[in-house]
Amino acid sequence: MALSSKPEFAVGLLCHIKAMVDNAKRVVLTAHTHADGDAVGAVTGLMSVLGRLYPDLNLTPMLPQGCPRQFEWMPGAALILSGESERERCCQALAEADMIFVLDLNTPSRLDNLAQPFTQATGHKILVDHHISPDQAAFQTIISDHTISSTCELATWLVEALWGAQAIGSEAATCFYTGMRTDTGGFAYSNTQPSLYHAAAMLIGTGIDPAEINNRIVNIFSERRLRFYGYAISNCLTVMAEQHFAYFAISLDVQRHFGVGYEDMDGLVNYTTLMSDIEFGALIREEKQRCKVSLRSKHTDVESIARQLFGGGGHRKAAGATSTLPLAETVEKLTQYVASR
Ligand code: 5GP
Ligand code: MN
Repeated sequence: MALSSKPEFAVGLLCHIKAMVDNAKRVVLTAHTHADGDAVGAVTGLMSVLGRLYPDLNLTPMLPQGCPRQFEWMPGAALILSGESERERCCQALAEADMIFVLDLNTPSRLDNLAQPFTQATGHKILVDHHISPDQAAFQTIISDHTISSTCELATWLVEALWGAQAIGSEAATCFYTGMRTDTGGFAYSNTQPSLYHAAAMLIGTGIDPAEINNRIVNIFSERRLRFYGYAISNCLTVMAEQHFAYFAISLDVQRHFGVGYEDMDGLVNYTTLMSDIEFGALIREEKQRCKVSLRSKHTDVESIARQLFGGGGHRKAAGATSTLPLAETVEKLTQYVASR
């Protein structure tokens, strides 16, 4: 059967990447700030593949805030350095790396506190990503395909093309499957395509347990977090019925009261589009000096909203941005735009 959307890689490009890895001594793997399952899965999955194939290779995984708590169970996650609390080690590893794999982002600014040491680094910078418009000037090698469900799926196909499917052991498969699962809302979003199922079948064939991975991804709420969701739905949700738009505005005070952080907010925005009459929704979360905006839609192009209003980006139906305005003004800017479109 034809794999219509399976990515194809130029032979010359594959040879080039393989030769670089063959000759590398120190490799850094990193991904975007406030890492999600796809970012952590791509970092740990690729690290597992490289570790098995090249036992002498010095591998340093790092994320701007380290590994989020909910992904600490993933194989290799304990090795991920934090750009915040282990800054020195991160900067040193970036400066000494022959190769830097950058995963699941399209511009170095998404590396947050690691953006500057990354930009200064002299090692070969290779991007593997599925967002639109990758920053062409920031990387020497770019593997980018926004038609692919997730960076983990793209990495799975890339590894298969480079070293064959047998290079993916059950640990790497667990990591890659997790990212594919989280970025597609459990094989439900419109980025769910034939190649995703083929990649998933390949990974499940290594003996991983999809039901257990599902448990670790979905059934992870604390009582505090669940009660916060109840409060937010009752008190922090505004519906603009005429515009078919709904949004959560979550102040720092509310976050402090419930003792919740950004990790606990993951998924809350999806409650807006649970309503049949709502076409797109937002979550605006106050941080210390800025606000984080998350946008989701059923059909509307929210990537362009994130980009135009706040200089953000992402995907057509799932985008995000950082607003430098205070909470009330961020809400005002977004709702005025929505009301006038
Ligand atoms: P989330 O709402 O889950 O934070 O992000 C949804 C999508 O938007 C993800 O694909 C993410 O990479 C992208 N995204 C989130 N925040 C930003 C941002 O500040 N800038 C850009 N360019 N993309 C973002
Ligand atoms: Mn992704």
